[in-house]
Amino acid sequence: MNQLAYLWHPLRRLSTNRLSARRLRSQLPRKFCTMSVNVPGSGRTIDQTMTEDTTLALEYRYIDIGVNLTDSVFRGRNRGWGSKVIHHEDDFDLVIGRSKQAGVESMIVTCGSLRESKEVLKLAKDHNLYATLGCHPTRSGDFDKFEGGPETYLHCIDETISRHLEGPGRIVAVGECGLDYDRLHFADKETQKKHFRSQLSLAKKYHLPLFLHSRAAAQDLSIILREEGFGEDGGKAVGGRGGVVHSFTGTVEEMRELHEMGFYFSVNGCSTKAADQLETIKQIPLERLMLETDAPWCSMKPSHASKMHLDTLPPALRCKYFPPAVKGENFEIGKAVKDRNEPCSVGGVAWVVSRLHGVPFEDVVDKCWNNTVEVFGLHELA
Ligand SMILES: [Zn+2]
Repeated sequence: MNQLAYLWHPLRRLSTNRLSARRLRSQLPRKFCTMSVNVPGSGRTIDQTMTEDTTLALEYRYIDIGVNLTDSVFRGRNRGWGSKVIHHEDDFDLVIGRSKQAGVESMIVTCGSLRESKEVLKLAKDHNLYATLGCHPTRSGDFDKFEGGPETYLHCIDETISRHLEGPGRIVAVGECGLDYDRLHFADKETQKKHFRSQLSLAKKYHLPLFLHSRAAAQDLSIILREEGFGEDGGKAVGGRGGVVHSFTGTVEEMRELHEMGFYFSVNGCSTKAADQLETIKQIPLERLMLETDAPWCSMKPSHASKMHLDTLPPALRCKYFPPAVKGENFEIGKAVKDRNEPCSVGGVAWVVSRLHGVPFEDVVDKCWNNTVEVFGLHELA
C-alpha cells in the first residue's frame, strides 16, 4: 500500500464508524498529530502520524457527482488552446491520488453516449466508482445514425443499464441527457427533444435518478419533464426518482420551477463564473444542492466572480484543492495542468457555496454528501 493510501484508508474507516475525523483531530495536538488507528479487519493497531495539512483536508469528504474521467486529457493528450494538441505523460493515477488527498471519497463518472459506455463502465469498476449512462443532447444524432435506428440505440442503453445495476462501478443515474440549445450545430432542437424524451422511459423503468444537462433550454426541458410525469415529486408516480440538473447555470426562476418539481442542483466552476450566478446559488436550498467539478471542464478561474470568495480559502485547504499547476507545454509529472480541471478542486466549489450561504463550511460539505448518498442510493458510503 502506498503512503497516501495508508494515510487515507484508516481515516475513512473511522468516519464510517461515525467517529468523525473532525472530532478526532480536535482531541489531538495541532501541527503534528499522532494517534492510534485500528487497521480494519486485522485486529492490529498502528501509530499514525499526520501533518496538520493532511488532517485538515481529510476532515471534509466529497463525492464529485460529475467527472469526465475517460477524457484523453487525463492520459497525456492535452488539447491546449485552439487546435494545438500537446502530448505529455499519462498522469491519470496522480490525478486520482490528488483527489484522495483532497478528501474526494467517491465520484460519479459521466457517460454521454453508448459509444463511450464500455470505457466509462470499466473505469468506474476498476476504481470502485459509479457511473451514469445516457446520451448527451449534443450527441443525440447518434440515435438516428445507429444501425437498426433509434429504437435499437435505446434498447442497447436499456440492456447495458440492466447489466450494471449492482456492484462496483454500477450505473446510478440515467444521463447525461437533456437539452443544449447553445450547440445546435451538433443536433437540432427536434432531434434533442425526441431523444431526451425517449430516455426518460429508462429512468421510470429502472427507478433511477436523472443526470440532466440543460443549457439555454430550461423551458423546453421542464415541459418535456412534466409531460412525461416528472412534474411532481421527481416523477415518483410514474416510477421516477427525481434527479439533478448538473452544472447548473440557470436563473432563480428556473431553479424554483425545477425545485418545485422535486429536482436537485449541482454546481461547479461554470456555475460560479458571474455575479448573477452567485446570486442564484444563494437561493438554492442546501437540502437540494450537490457538488461537482465536471473535470476536465469548468475550472474555477481568477477572472470569475467566485475569486473573491476563493481568496479566503485557508492555505491548508488551498494546497489540496488547487495544487500547483503548470501549462500543458511545460508539463511536469506530479503537477496539475493549468485549465485542466481535476476532481480535487470540488472542495473549492463547496467553499464558495458556504461563503454565499453564510453557513459553516462543514454544513455545506455534510449536506451535499448526504443529498448525493440519498438521491443516488450510495448508502454503502454513508
Ligand atoms: Zn453536461
